[in-house]
Amino acid sequence: MPAAAKPQSSRKVAARSSRTAAKPKPAAKQVAQAALVVGGGVAGMQASLDLANQGFKVYLVEKSPSIGGRMAMLDKTFPTLDCSACILTPRLSEVARHPNIKLLTYTDLEGVIGKVGNFKVRVIKRARYVKEELCAGCGACAKECPVEVPNEFDQGLGFRKAIYVGFPQSTPSTYTIDMESCIKCKRCERACERKAIDLEMEDERVEFDVGAIIIATGYRLFDVRRYYRLGYGRLPDVINAMEYERLINAAGPTQGHLIRLSDGKTPQSIGFVQCVGARDVNKGVPYCSRVCCMYGIKNAVMAKEHNPSTDVTIYYADIRAFGKGFEEFYEMARTRFGVKFLRGRAAEIIEDVRTGKLHLRAEDTETAQPQEFEHDMVVICPGIQPPDDLDKIAEKLGVAMSNDGYVDVVHRYFGPVDTKMPGIFVCGCADGPKDIPDSVTAGSAAAMKASIILAKGGAA
Ligand SMILES: Cc1cc2nc3c(=O)[nH]c(=O)nc-3n(C[C@H](O)[C@H](O)[C@H](O)COP(=O)(O)OP(=O)(O)OC[C@H]3O[C@@H](n4cnc5c(N)ncnc54)[C@H](O)[C@@H]3O)c2cc1C
Repeated sequence: MPAAAKPQSSRKVAARSSRTAAKPKPAAKQVAQAALVVGGGVAGMQASLDLANQGFKVYLVEKSPSIGGRMAMLDKTFPTLDCSACILTPRLSEVARHPNIKLLTYTDLEGVIGKVGNFKVRVIKRARYVKEELCAGCGACAKECPVEVPNEFDQGLGFRKAIYVGFPQSTPSTYTIDMESCIKCKRCERACERKAIDLEMEDERVEFDVGAIIIATGYRLFDVRRYYRLGYGRLPDVINAMEYERLINAAGPTQGHLIRLSDGKTPQSIGFVQCVGARDVNKGVPYCSRVCCMYGIKNAVMAKEHNPSTDVTIYYADIRAFGKGFEEFYEMARTRFGVKFLRGRAAEIIEDVRTGKLHLRAEDTETAQPQEFEHDMVVICPGIQPPDDLDKIAEKLGVAMSNDGYVDVVHRYFGPVDTKMPGIFVCGCADGPKDIPDSVTAGSAAAMKASIILAKGGAA
């Protein structure tokens, strides 16, 4: 007879149950049913929405005044040429309106202690000098403001006031005073009917508990001034790809007119220089940035869409059109739009001061011949790098970094969103360059991993 089936004396049973009663079970591990997401680009927004839609509370911390990240700055998106703002704006509103998402913009992560399931987070909400609960985003304040400074959102090509929103769909729509530029004339205060301006506002420390954390801090562009001979920063008609995105955008500084910065004329010939700072062990980074081939081709096609007679050449090392629909898009650029492709690294760009034309010297690597081409405008397509402060964020969270400066993951194949710190996940470009679909996929994956921890938990 199996032991379990042996009849037990009632005395023994009573003794056991009294022992059980005397020794209470350890309390179920308390897991805070909330998550922190650091970074409000497409990846962080996706992670936040996926967690919030499962019923978990999300604190979305974004250091700039608005969520949206780099996608908000783009004109169109490859390979479909969807209008970036048109597909992003509904998502911005969804995040802002979600009852489970606490949006903390213009906020910095100060410190985190604890471990998986029980992290205590401290953030500093920087003073906007405008009360979020009162500001209706009407813009009456900015109309009165006499100070104009370059707008970071437009890559410094357009201007904003000292009291500003960077772009029309800024989320939240609350205005922010840039105190470094403000001259304290108080005209904004007088213009604001809702009395939302508070020039005495101070930074605020906010603390909360979370069970899991997602890092979604994105990327920065490689500083192409390091390639001095390409002329960026010295020659006004040599611009970078993000500046180009803003120039061709209808909501950008030129209302979408593609013009040369030197003389305001429409360029008749444009060169796009790929792989600047990427795949270059000497001056740049050794890895491929994965998005530059496609955004270069997209922008070349957009030049043709703006003005079909423009002569457009892409100077490339290899074309890496690996995603769905990418190869077809590349073919379409060549055959339907007549974009020229020249395999060769650009070595030098010189301005002819008499004509204002740019002379681009490159080696055609298929013929091994040095060549010189003339353009009205050259667009440098920089590689992608981790944000400057990623090492500080990683240190605060105790997560390891990889050799290339991104957040490291436990296993490239089987743990692509798990950092080496349990309970902390990573998505989007915070662990390496990605396009928008891959960033969104990683955002969902990180949310799923975080929700497994939160779902195991007890009360918040
Ligand atoms: C010129 C150019 C054109 C492109 N065109 C396309 C395209 O057409 N199609 C496509 O699929 N991809 C394109 N891309 C790539 C696309 O920009 C990225 O795939 C996408 O932006 C990645 O999203 P993300 O959320 O990871 O990062 P980001 O968009 O960089 O967002 C990160 C967010 O985190 C915030 N943040 C950073 N550090 C902190 C911190 N310490 N604390 C709080 N918040 C922080 C940032 O302010 C930002 O809002 C292009 C890239 C470039 C450079």
